[in-house]
Amino acid sequence: MHFCIVGAGFSGAVTARHLAERGHRITVIDERPHNGGNCHTARDPQTGIMLHHYGPHIFHTAQETVWQYVQRFGRFAPYINRVKAISQGRVYTLPITLLTINQFFGKTMQPAEAREFIRQQAVQDMASSRNFEEQALHMIGPALYEAFFKGYTTKQWGLPPANLPAAILKRLPVRFNYDDNYFSHPYQGIPVEGYTTLIETILTHPRITVRLNTSFETFQSCNSMDHTLYTGPLDRYFSFCHGRLGYRTLDFERIDAKGDYQGTAVINYCDESIPYTRISEHKHFAPWEAARFSRTVCFREYSRLAGPEDAPYYPIRLAGETAMLNRYVRTAMTARNVSFLGRLGTYRYLDMDVTIGEALAACQIMDDHLAEGRPLPVFFTNPL
Ligand code: FAD
Ligand code: UDP
Repeated sequence: MHFCIVGAGFSGAVTARHLAERGHRITVIDERPHNGGNCHTARDPQTGIMLHHYGPHIFHTAQETVWQYVQRFGRFAPYINRVKAISQGRVYTLPITLLTINQFFGKTMQPAEAREFIRQQAVQDMASSRNFEEQALHMIGPALYEAFFKGYTTKQWGLPPANLPAAILKRLPVRFNYDDNYFSHPYQGIPVEGYTTLIETILTHPRITVRLNTSFETFQSCNSMDHTLYTGPLDRYFSFCHGRLGYRTLDFERIDAKGDYQGTAVINYCDESIPYTRISEHKHFAPWEAARFSRTVCFREYSRLAGPEDAPYYPIRLAGETAMLNRYVRTAMTARNVSFLGRLGTYRYLDMDVTIGEALAACQIMDDHLAEGRPLPVFFTNPL
């Protein structure tokens, strides 16, 4: 079969590689001038520092198969994400650990004491935690919530946390020890040659052709191919016929400096009075080479509602969006010779490892359907 794959991010690359290895012919198109999707990295022409163009990306996973899969295509250097947070003029460590708790409350508690202390701080009398704010008050109490989450979350999502789902908060742990690793997964690292080189290696196969600067809308040849795997925005595929699904987008403000600007890769700014959410200093994502750069490049990150011309970053998925998503899913189910996958195709926030895991699972489903001569499914994962 001849497949058209729209999008040269992890979703497109992983499925392209698998289908090519099964003997199919693949044309991958991407409207951007580079491979890698939102994980794109490239060396800064001025300083040589590896920059993460669409925001910092740290690979972390608990899925052994995904970890093995990415090792096939590039070397990963060990990297532990240790995030600092500035709140009310003081620096702390995030996620909330025993160090954060002791520093914040000016104490020297041991784990069991801190657990009991936080239990007393926490708001107990809630039958169920229905939204972000309630969940935070229930988990850590008002003082830590207001210091670390209220302002940051309001800036990040443009809404009061009481209007946001609790699931967003559940991405972060609260630890009663001194483990300041931002992620809890056993495997964590950064590809030594960057994500774009890694994804280009996945795409390097004699049966895969990649056409950059090519949008799906203008690529007529797709119509003559047997099947399309579409990893672009679901609403865009249907020309926004049910309206635009809401996304947050990011603006990056570059800071050039000498030496070391902030002494670490990521500092979050939790106060609402500071308009950006965080500053990332990209040479610190590559500690194995950071010392060779005398200059440094950082980015201040500002979050706002995505307009029609903006790159979609975070799907909002509030009640209005899920109702609209439902309409798109119903429309998609009537489409032929197309399958939707990836973070934009299914309108979900997906980490890289989940993206790769879902793409590998989709490959398995495709193998089974093709072996039995059945048409490929429209969705491999239910987006609702
Ligand atoms: P994408 O990477 O978005 O690729 C889709 C591609 O499709 C794009 O290149 C786009 O140009 C192309 N495309 C879209 N529409 C069309 C069209 N009509 N025609 C042609 N081409 C089209 N995950 C982690 O695991 N760790 C992290 O630290 C992390 N940090 C993140 C930070 C930020 C700020 C954000 C927003 C996400 C982060 N992620 C992180 C998530 C990660 O970016 C995603 O998991 C990953 O990009 C998903 O890959 P994808 O292939 O599904 O989508
Ligand atoms: N968050 C916060 N303060 C912080 C860091 C995170 O309030 O200093 C909240 C914010 O709402 C964010 C969520 O916790 O969306 C999940 O954090 P994570 O670091 O996973 O965010 P992402 O990777 O989506 O940027």
